[in-house]
Amino acid sequence: MSSNTTVHNIRADFPILQKTIHGHPLVYLDNAATTQKPQCVLDALNQYYSGMNANIHRGVHQLSTIATQAFENARASVQKFINAKHAKECIFVRGATEAINLVAASFGGKFVNSGDEILISAMEHHSNIVPWQMLCQTKGAHLKIIPMNKQGELNLETIGQLFNKKTKLLAITHASNALGTRNPLSEIIQSAHAHHVPVLVDGAQSAPHLKIDVQALDCDFFTFSSHKTYGPTGVGVLYGKTHLLEAMPPYQGGGEMILQVNFEKSTYNEIPFKFEAGTPAIAEVIAFGNALEYLERLGWDFITKHEKTLLQDATEKLSAFPGLKIIGTAKEKVGVISFTLDGVHPHDIGSILDQFGIAIRTGHHCAMPIMNFFNVPATARASFGIYNTIDDIDKLISGLHEVRRIFPSSALRAPSPVKQEKEK
Ligand code: PMP
Repeated sequence: MSSNTTVHNIRADFPILQKTIHGHPLVYLDNAATTQKPQCVLDALNQYYSGMNANIHRGVHQLSTIATQAFENARASVQKFINAKHAKECIFVRGATEAINLVAASFGGKFVNSGDEILISAMEHHSNIVPWQMLCQTKGAHLKIIPMNKQGELNLETIGQLFNKKTKLLAITHASNALGTRNPLSEIIQSAHAHHVPVLVDGAQSAPHLKIDVQALDCDFFTFSSHKTYGPTGVGVLYGKTHLLEAMPPYQGGGEMILQVNFEKSTYNEIPFKFEAGTPAIAEVIAFGNALEYLERLGWDFITKHEKTLLQDATEKLSAFPGLKIIGTAKEKVGVISFTLDGVHPHDIGSILDQFGIAIRTGHHCAMPIMNFFNVPATARASFGIYNTIDDIDKLISGLHEVRRIFPSSALRAPSPVKQEKEK
């Protein structure tokens, strides 16, 4: 965007940021769960239903033609956003979860056999674990895990040893929703390809923060969700290289994905339609296209610089907070900070902050293996988006002082009389 892009201008595009919660201005720091929507996205939803609502691809009437054009324009916006070679390589699904399930069922169903291996990493979201476990169970295949260190970085020195002739796919997150770690994908993908292993990238947490170039990454599949990328819920993308998508069987059967149907046999449509059975979320897809164009207008230089500033500022201030421990201290991170505060359950942190209008997430973040690895039941997590400010971070820190006032540090609490008695 032009050099006069400011966070102030961006905030004005998001009506929900005017809201007060418990009498306080909303401080929204739960962007890794879902992002807020700019006015252009809200307008696109409204314009679709008020001016072009019709089913797509099948109609000869004018509304259907207009809706189809808008829907396919959104596909072109996705293609541009991730720099796919062809628009047909971008399949609309319900979200990153469905995209991964599609690959597990279709690619896995055809190409994974008994005794084969699927490789994932120690920092995956449940969405990039469970579909592979289900596939392995059905096929008698095995799940292997790339380990990580205490900083929350993958141990890549030995990654070469994890591939063998039985490895059918590497499925790995670009950025961790629970730790913020940004993985060095180019290096990892090169290593996988050297062993002839295709790679699926879970981009749910990278697409909102980084310029994605699937051709430069050379990944074989890339998945992400609209709702984490400032678009509506219920939409996501599966990108796949043409030759892979063409070799894969359909995921679901129904209308739209067929060429010919008779009771003996059906033949299937070309990609992307082969994987888009039934009526899609038309309004949401069109509005998603608007969200991606909005991000492109802001520009990746602005977005990455701004979010880096927020991450640095928050990391410094949180690190200095007494009794607070950051979980996930990788050198390369996106704007996600998980933490614990001694003597306070993360849910209490979240509930107290909410009283001050500050929205963070608490829990296991659908990443239980990560919680087990760090030996914590849950963490509190602040995650940043394009509209967050240093003031938001300062409010988070003030809120944490309130939490500390209510739950003094165990180090500051007087020993209980019983304990004192025993110690005598
Ligand atoms: N992968 C990661 C890393 C995520 O953070 C999430 C959402 N928390 C998902 C996958 C799943 O995304 P969705 O629920 O939108 O399908």
